[in-house]
Amino acid sequence: MIIEPRTVKLTTRTGVDVYRTLPHRDRKMVGAWCFVDLFGPTAQHDAMVVAAHPHTGLQTATWLISGTVEHRDSVGTVQVLFPGDLNLMTSGHGIAHSELAVMDSGDLHAVQLWIALPDEARHQPPHFENYRDLPVVAHAGATVRVFAGSLLGVTAPTLTFSDLVGAEVRLPAEATVTIPVNPSHEHGVLVVSGDVRTTDVIPERGIHIIDAGPDHITITAQTDSIVMVLGGQPFGEKIVMWWNFIGRTHAEVTQAREQWNSGDQRFGSFTDRIGGRIPAPDLPSVTLMPR
Ligand code: MN
Repeated sequence: MIIEPRTVKLTTRTGVDVYRTLPHRDRKMVGAWCFVDLFGPTAQHDAMVVAAHPHTGLQTATWLISGTVEHRDSVGTVQVLFPGDLNLMTSGHGIAHSELAVMDSGDLHAVQLWIALPDEARHQPPHFENYRDLPVVAHAGATVRVFAGSLLGVTAPTLTFSDLVGAEVRLPAEATVTIPVNPSHEHGVLVVSGDVRTTDVIPERGIHIIDAGPDHITITAQTDSIVMVLGGQPFGEKIVMWWNFIGRTHAEVTQAREQWNSGDQRFGSFTDRIGGRIPAPDLPSVTLMPR
């Protein structure tokens, strides 16, 4: 299936539109990948000014096409992220972080992804990793950077807790590449920029979801293009995903919300140049069901 991007406002303090493909009404996840946001490209200086906010039960993976972003979190991390590197934050039981686009570092063009943690990994203490020198493969004219799992004979050192894969593929105009993939994985092909088709034409910023089965993905680019290949074993657990929290029950999410809004030490604290924190919104009046 093809999922068209929808635009959302990230926060009231960030004027830029974000293009979201997952989660979608008809598709919650691809493997453990459960959230796919694309920012820019934009020269807007407040493109990414996201004040302190919490997470539970997931990893955030931030990948830049261009620009620079400063990450800070409540385990004491201050990390400037550059294109080609990966910021990976494992919330485990609970963490808070903020993200600030660095001015005068070029247009911001970024992908933010969430990875759901399986039940046995979701209560771990929070931690953060920055990965540089990720494996790069030249393949049939394309340049493939593998930032999670294994692809094309290389394996990223990235710490993940389920069987998944993530890669950026840069294709020159008129290139066709065939990438062998694990047939037990489901995949998403996200078009960051360019004019791309697989077995279907994929709109720019859209994603083609390919169910498990095929042992390869063929990607054709009409123009210079950038795509992300995200895949993994079907997740196999139902989750409750609300605001920035992933849990298993309505009660867990309610507790996390109350703890964040009351300043509970579950999420720690830190200082940044943005100031303030983003309060959790009101819960819906219905009980959130695992899906
Ligand atoms: Mn976040």
